[in-house]
Parts: sequence; structure tokens; C-alpha cells
Amino acid sequence: MPVLPSLLEYTHPALAELLAGMGHKAYRATQLQEWIWKHRATDFEQMLNLPPALRQELAARFTLRPLNVVEVNQSTTGSTRKFLSRMQDGHLVESVIIPAAVGQGGAHSERLTLCVSSQVGCAFGCKFCASGLLGFTRNLTASEILAQIVAAEEISGERIDNLVFMGMGEPLANIDNLLTALDVIMDQRALNIGARHITISTSGNVPGLRRLAEYGKPLRLAVSLHGARDEVRSQVMPVNKKWPLSQLVPALEEWNRCSKHKITFEYILIEGVNAMLPEAPRLAALARKLNAKVNLIPYNTVEGLPWVRPTEANCRAFCRALINAGIPVTMRYEKGHDINAACGQLRLRRETQA
Ligand code: SF4
Repeated sequence: MPVLPSLLEYTHPALAELLAGMGHKAYRATQLQEWIWKHRATDFEQMLNLPPALRQELAARFTLRPLNVVEVNQSTTGSTRKFLSRMQDGHLVESVIIPAAVGQGGAHSERLTLCVSSQVGCAFGCKFCASGLLGFTRNLTASEILAQIVAAEEISGERIDNLVFMGMGEPLANIDNLLTALDVIMDQRALNIGARHITISTSGNVPGLRRLAEYGKPLRLAVSLHGARDEVRSQVMPVNKKWPLSQLVPALEEWNRCSKHKITFEYILIEGVNAMLPEAPRLAALARKLNAKVNLIPYNTVEGLPWVRPTEANCRAFCRALINAGIPVTMRYEKGHDINAACGQLRLRRETQA
């Protein structure tokens, strides 16, 4: 089977340009976009208001579904669902559907969140992460990023209204395709998910951060920090050797000048590495400097990796130290632990079984 480009990543102007090049009027772009996003057509032959010759030409050149879901796992502890998709070239990508109560102005609403992958594998090799174990294979196209959202809505039967780019891969290392996907995600005629419901999570890719700041949309940003000084952070995050805190912090200050949302520092608590109490005031000082909130995550055991989860008492003491320092802090336990829902684990299991 030939690998065909997908139309999912085409914005309305891009569709208009494509169709103009094929000799068609601009209104056809609106019709085509409605078939793709409003009616969720899976086959060009469903697009009955397009001329048959156009349908045939589009079918010969493009696909509407650049991936197929091959496995869905439901958590036994909740309604978290993780699914694995196979792309046209046979590579696998994973995504997680996470229902969550989100507080808004005192009220609570259920938002359906999708944790999206941006690459096959990852080159960044964070020490706690299963995705790094298989190395980097390739960037996802913008359409493959978007197709995960389409698949999640088909699996759940509901609209995805919150996105976190926390799946496999470093999204800012795939910044061109990420920005193309974001254009379609936020397009009211396509997925229509607002910027404030989209979180980009980065390991601290400084050039990507600067590009994202230039993009100028009120997105949310989460930074995998895991160490408030280079000696600690470099043990967990090899990326810190390339872009140490002396480069990351100014990039985050620049982000803060463009964004009205607080940065979130993700901090996985690892016994004997970064969960010792003297690290808490250092983390508090950095969070205060960057007006960030902190999300503490007790380490989620990954088969084949050496790190150990601290005791519950240690985690609570670390959390209390941040609260006492006046830092907004949450403690999050990974959802879907029983379905290998930590980043990269489902694909890792599948690839190592193969
Ligand atoms: S945590 Fe993210 S950036 Fe780090 S290795 Fe895993 S996928 Fe890559």
C-alpha cells in the first residue's frame, strides 16, 4: 500500500489552494472541509456534492485516515482508555483518553482529555520514560497528530475538548508539524478546541519554546523539570546538558511575557534523586521566579528502569514544604497505571513482544 498524504492537516486556505490548483472554485474547499470535519467522512465517495472526477482524483492522491486503531485498553480503576494506532508505514503510536473533573470558577465540568503523541519514539531519553528506551524513529505528520483526536472521538463517541501533548515524543522537537496541527485543532470549522484547553508539555527544548512563544496563542505550557539545579536535573533529563537551566529559565521568562497562563512544572518524585527535602526550597525558589505552579508525580514504576518511588510520607513532606513556601502545588498519581498508561509503555510492550 502506498503511503498517501492526508487531508486532515489542510486548513481552509490550504484546501482552497489545493482545489484551485486542480481547477476548482473556492466554495469546493468549504464543502470538502465540511465533509472532513463536520460529517467525519472516511471515504471520498461519501462526498456526494463533489463532482465524481474530483472525488476520484482526491482518493488517488490523499487519505482521510492516516492511522488505524489496533488496540484499545480500558483501565479497571476508572474510565481511562489507552489506544494504540498503526500508521500507513506500519509504525505504532499511542494515545490516552482521560475523563477528568475540571474546576472552573468554583463550578466543575467534565472535560474529556486526550493525551496526544507527537513522535514515534523519542530522542530525548529522559531517564524515567519508556518512550526513550526504544529511541527515536520519526516525527508524526500534522495529520497523524490530528488523526489521534479523530480516533479518540470515534472510540469514545464524545467530543474531545481538552488536549495534552504529553504522549510519546517531544512536541517541540516536531515544532513545524505541531504548529500546523494546532492551526487545525483551533480552527472553528475543524476541531474548534480553544488554546486554553491545549497544554504543550516539553522536556525543555529551548529553540522550540521560543518558536511556540512567537506563535503567540494563549496555550498552556508544562515543563518536565524534575530537578531545580543542573546537577539533579541532568541525572534525570539528558536534555539538560544541551539546554541547561541557564538557557531554559530565560526562554521561560520570554514565554511568560507572551502568555497569561501560569507555567506548570512537572516534577516526578524519585527516591534518592530529587525527592530529598533540601531540594524542595530550591524548587520553590525557581517556581517563584517563574510564577509557576508545581505538579508532583510520585514515580510510576517502569519495567526495565532502575528508579524507585519514594514512600508516601516522603512525598507528602516534599509537597508540604512547597505549600509552606507559598507555591501552588498539586500531587498527581498517574491514572491508568494498570493499563501501562505512562508515556510510551503500551507501545514498548507491543514492540518488545513482536
Ligand atoms: S518524557 Fe517526553 S521528552 Fe522525555 S523521553 Fe519521554 S517522550 Fe521523550
